[in-house]
Amino acid sequence: MTTHLDCIFCKIVASQIPSRKAYEDDELLVFHDINPTAPVHLLVVPKEHFENLISAKPDHAALLGRMQLLAPRLAAENGAANGFRTVINNGPDGRQEVYHLHMHIMGGAHPWKRMG
Ligand code: 5GP
Ligand code: ZN
Repeated sequence: MTTHLDCIFCKIVASQIPSRKAYEDDELLVFHDINPTAPVHLLVVPKEHFENLISAKPDHAALLGRMQLLAPRLAAENGAANGFRTVINNGPDGRQEVYHLHMHIMGGAHPWKRMG
């Protein structure tokens, strides 16, 4: 598996940096965003390091599909049963801050803070 020594999400996946975990399996780690913009704000992070959808490969199709299909369950289990938003930020104009692909799940009662 590709990991990057200087990548903050690789360090969280390796438990070198603590996080509030919500779900884990062989391919994915899900944890609460440290700076939430909604009452429920989770980050779904592949354990494999790749930057974003711009650098994703056809081999990532199943993984990206699993991330989406896991979202309703994660949202409901964490207090956002009434609906949620999924967001993947890609590149500078996509306001991506951490260059390890991740999907935001945001839910809970409004109003929410605006993202970027
Ligand atoms: P993006 O790259 O999509 O713009 O957003 C990165 C997200 O990661 C931000 O919402 C930010 O709050 C979150 N984040 C950055 N560093 C950490 C960290 O060390 N722990 C956790 N739990 N979240 C982080
Ligand atoms: Zn990484």
